[in-house]
Amino acid sequence: MAQIIDGKQISKQIKDELKEKVAELKEQGIEICLAVIQVGDDPASTVYVGNKKKACEYIGIRSESYELPEETTEEALLDLIGRLNGDDRVNGILVQLPVPEHIDEDKIIRAISPKKDVDGFHPMSVGALSIGQPGYVSCTPAGVLALIRRSGFSIEGKECVVIGRSNIVGKPMGMLLLRENGTVTICHSKTKNLRDVCKRADILVVAVGKPKMIDASYVKEGAVVIDVGIHRDANNKLCGDVDYASVEPVAGAITPVPGGVGPMTIAMLMKNCVESIQIQAFAKDQES
Ligand code: NDP
Repeated sequence: MAQIIDGKQISKQIKDELKEKVAELKEQGIEICLAVIQVGDDPASTVYVGNKKKACEYIGIRSESYELPEETTEEALLDLIGRLNGDDRVNGILVQLPVPEHIDEDKIIRAISPKKDVDGFHPMSVGALSIGQPGYVSCTPAGVLALIRRSGFSIEGKECVVIGRSNIVGKPMGMLLLRENGTVTICHSKTKNLRDVCKRADILVVAVGKPKMIDASYVKEGAVVIDVGIHRDANNKLCGDVDYASVEPVAGAITPVPGGVGPMTIAMLMKNCVESIQIQAFAKDQES
């Protein structure tokens, strides 16, 4: 039987540690503020934004909400981001994605100051991760790394296979595992013999975006299997990219869906908000 990696419990632990840290900062007169921007009223985005605001409240981070109508122009959104970039009271800026189609998402990501890019999507943040400098790390892969480490698994020298090469999950995940001295392979839709490559993995991170695609035939006995996927199956039940029932008897450890990677993403967003203090100090240092 595999060890179940409990993302709910680990994310709660992280949030409680951050809550203490934020209280200490408050005693030194430092308050952290996250600006959250939502354009339009997509129901899923509204739920995500609500959860982020709730997490801020729990930890003691001040959140400022900007709920803009669907027809907001790109120029108006860029204008708001520009103002928040220049506002010293604001430590982090988050634009809930996706934005409506008439707005260029890439332009918006680049407009957020790298000093306030708590989602870790800006090219400067991605570059900082690649060269090992302080910077914001994309929240979902950062959450996966925290799950692996806090469950007591070492990465150094291990065969790590990531399925998926998106900019927000697969690629930063590969960089993080490499930073931890794993031997990393990143797979994608053009990978040949995917099954054989996955079967080599001591640590298998699945972010393929296909419900229950990865079954036991892809998994080495005793491997740590992290399922980033999130979908609804034919019975409207949440499921991941991993066929849990098939893989659980073979794996050494596995994340469930729900209750695995999902809760970690917000916890790592909160961590990025708290780390903004150091990242902004580092940036100031570099500028002087
Ligand atoms: P994308 O769709 O952007 O990327 C999927 C990746 O999987 C691509 O690199 C693609 O390859 C690769 N892929 C697709 N089909 C195959 C295949 N048959 N064999 C091998 N590789 C394949 O997804 P994301 O990275 O954004 O998300 C991945 C999953 O994680 C999704 O299920 C998403 O819902 C979930 N997710 C969960 C989060 C959470 O908080 N829990 C947060 C973010 C995402 P190619 O590049 O060649 O097209």
